[in-house]
Amino acid sequence: MTEELAAFRGFAYAAAPESRAIVRLEDGYGLFVGGEWRAPAETYTTISPASEEPLAQVGQASAEDVGAAVGAARAAFEGEWSALRPAERAKYLFRIARLLQERAREFAVLESLNGGKPIKESRDVDLPLAAAHFFYYAGWADKLEYAFPNRRPRPRGVTGQIIPWNFPLLMLAWKIAPALAAGNTVVLKPAETTPLTALLFCDVLRQAELPAGVVNIVTGDGRTGAALVEHPDVDKIAFTGSTEVGKAIQRELAGTGKGLTLELGGKAANIVFDDAPLDQAVEGIVNGIYFNQGHVCCAGSRLLVQESIQQPLIEKLKRRLATLRVGDPLDKNTDVGAINSATQLQRIEEFVAAGELEGAELYQPPCTLPERGYWFAPTVFTNVAQSHRIAQEEIFGPVLSVLTFRTPEEAVEKANNTAYGLSAGVWTEKGSRILWAAQRLRAGVVWANTFNRFDPTSPFGGYKESGFGREGGLHGLEPYLRFDEDSTEWGG
Ligand code: NAP
Ligand code: MG
Repeated sequence: MTEELAAFRGFAYAAAPESRAIVRLEDGYGLFVGGEWRAPAETYTTISPASEEPLAQVGQASAEDVGAAVGAARAAFEGEWSALRPAERAKYLFRIARLLQERAREFAVLESLNGGKPIKESRDVDLPLAAAHFFYYAGWADKLEYAFPNRRPRPRGVTGQIIPWNFPLLMLAWKIAPALAAGNTVVLKPAETTPLTALLFCDVLRQAELPAGVVNIVTGDGRTGAALVEHPDVDKIAFTGSTEVGKAIQRELAGTGKGLTLELGGKAANIVFDDAPLDQAVEGIVNGIYFNQGHVCCAGSRLLVQESIQQPLIEKLKRRLATLRVGDPLDKNTDVGAINSATQLQRIEEFVAAGELEGAELYQPPCTLPERGYWFAPTVFTNVAQSHRIAQEEIFGPVLSVLTFRTPEEAVEKANNTAYGLSAGVWTEKGSRILWAAQRLRAGVVWANTFNRFDPTSPFGGYKESGFGREGGLHGLEPYLRFDEDSTEWGG
């Protein structure tokens, strides 16, 4: 190779960082209660996981703070909010949606800064989808009687919402938009590591002139979440997070009459049949498990590949992995950003060590990880057995476990051999095989020749240990409503 050619081969992308100047961080944030900033007794520092740089001081809400937020939500519900004409309620949601669009770049930069996800994802996925959820549910706010004919839908009251750190603003939108459209008021707790976009969202609420107390944001760790769950004046809890915490919440609420929806973990099978277009499937596998560093509850973390095509598919996949750029979340060329926290990085490292110990074969493409911050290289395990921990437990990181199958029946059986049931993927040229598999896969969502696609009109949720209740679409509106079945005009 000539020297020139060698230099050309080594041609690297120049850095293309998105400017941080659009985000103006406060030194410290209070709790957003009753439309005002309430000073918390305790605070903690939120950081950027890509650099470990401190970003701001945020509140650790106590049980008393949570009580004040629930009180404000109750007062707003009993006051003007529940008496408001539904068409007026819709206008607030439309306003919030438009404001999110207008301020999309600011929110996207902040989301990447505080959470570590690549800017191209927060810009092209999180923000447009968050706005789309508000637009979608705004449209239903004054049409509930048509959405649920003859059932007299009424709001539940005060809803407590607890969300995780993997899609901070998007999960906020998934929770707040249907709750408000149905006429409820909200107390929301963001995840401990990613509170900043929820706090910036309070400024959107101010701009939208949403009445005080309709949405309250209390930051803090699991203790704040527990206080919200335990509060007697909350009518419904909506939770997204780990199966372990979800189960604890269900135990706590048993017999209280409070509504509950749980969106928990997953261990999705992404099934590639021998007639699938391989290059397209490779893109789907990469999107399935390396999107958002694999911090995705519906991630395609188990690749089930038909034995006859295993070798070419894995070769193509490894070649593709070598082209993924891991690094600065704010760089527009970055494909894989930072791991969300030191705790999560440690959890991923433990799983990977267990995979090697149990005899699976590890592959990581050559890549240089930044020195500061929390990073993990895209990882593929081949020779994985169904009994391995890396095939059974949710890793929530950029780690793919590859298993093989010979017949479609075996593929479905292995795919369903999990405690979870949130999502699945099928790659094949045959439409009939897609329908055949979709009927048999015990998963809330089945993607065909694509993966990780979301739309506000489409219900999302799990079977088994992945939880219950649906978010998105009309299904997602229902848990925020009460129905007085006896008093329908038709029922007599
Ligand atoms: P997690 O603890 O379940 O976090 C989810 C939310 O619940 C956070 O806001 C959390 O606060 C809060 N929380 C924690 N303990 C609580 C309690 N006792 N009562 C009420 N709320 C409580 O999840 P994690 O610890 O961040 O992540 C652990 C694992 O869960 C991950 O490795 C992954 O496998 C899974 N996970 C799944 C999803 C999903 O989308 N399905 C999302 C996140 C994590 P803190 O932020 O302070 O913990
Ligand atoms: Mg936690």
